[in-house]
Amino acid sequence: MSSTYRGRIAPTPTGYLHLGHARTFWIAMERAREAGGRLLYRDEDLDPQRCKAEYTNSAIEDLRWFGCDWHEGPDVGGSHGPYKQSERHDRFLNAWKLLKQAGFIYPCDKSRKDVARAGLAPHPEDETAEQIFPENWRPPIGTGKAAATPGETNWRFRVPDYLKIEFDDVRLGPCAFTCCHDFGDFLVWRKDGVPAYELAVVVDDAAMGITEVVRGEDLLISTARQLLIYKALGLQPPEFYHTPLLCDVSGQRLAKRHRSLSLRELRESGQSPEALRQSDDWWSGLED
Ligand code: GLU
Repeated sequence: MSSTYRGRIAPTPTGYLHLGHARTFWIAMERAREAGGRLLYRDEDLDPQRCKAEYTNSAIEDLRWFGCDWHEGPDVGGSHGPYKQSERHDRFLNAWKLLKQAGFIYPCDKSRKDVARAGLAPHPEDETAEQIFPENWRPPIGTGKAAATPGETNWRFRVPDYLKIEFDDVRLGPCAFTCCHDFGDFLVWRKDGVPAYELAVVVDDAAMGITEVVRGEDLLISTARQLLIYKALGLQPPEFYHTPLLCDVSGQRLAKRHRSLSLRELRESGQSPEALRQSDDWWSGLED
């Protein structure tokens, strides 16, 4: 069967992967397999402060142990290595130029901390929700258009005032987020010269011909932001399938700092991937 389905798994190498990552990537792999399509591995190693080669290697090793496999990536010793975002800077810079010339983005010297201090929490009850960039901090339209390089400042995407972004998630169905209400002007380039996640992921998913993005529900709101970038760059967005997040026994969602459920520890403690895939943890939150 030939298929045009193209999926990807795209970990950020800032720590050991945990069972939640493995479950998301397993679902991504199953969806590609069921569609008779292809899956590629992309190492999202853009942040030189936080990403480490050691974690790139452990992620690949642990996922292979777990039984994950993918079809594409540069050849490394006879198997498929990852595409590395750190080697694709020119593409991101090109997108920055296009967005800047068309007036979608502007230079901004406000840091995340400044935005947090401004205290415009979209959902005050949710402590993890990102703060909204205050509208009255925006510079006039056209600011930054003449810049030849991003320079040593942050760049933000100017979100359309109160536009409702709607999309159909393959698993969750209709989703909607409103600009300036659920999220505000967001980073596309950082002052330390690193392209921000939202920009890099769109550029790469489009360049790699991804037809369906499978990732955790924590990135649902990012999808709304990314749809704005797709539109601004005139690119066709993929489908989105957001997976439920795994929680620990106390109901907290797993993070890389939770060592107990890291694949590495599970493996070292003698657990088998097959048993983990049968466990209650694995099945929690999955509908079928
Ligand atoms: N690299 C991101 C992460 O590990 C995921 C990116 C994505 O799937 O869009 O959280």
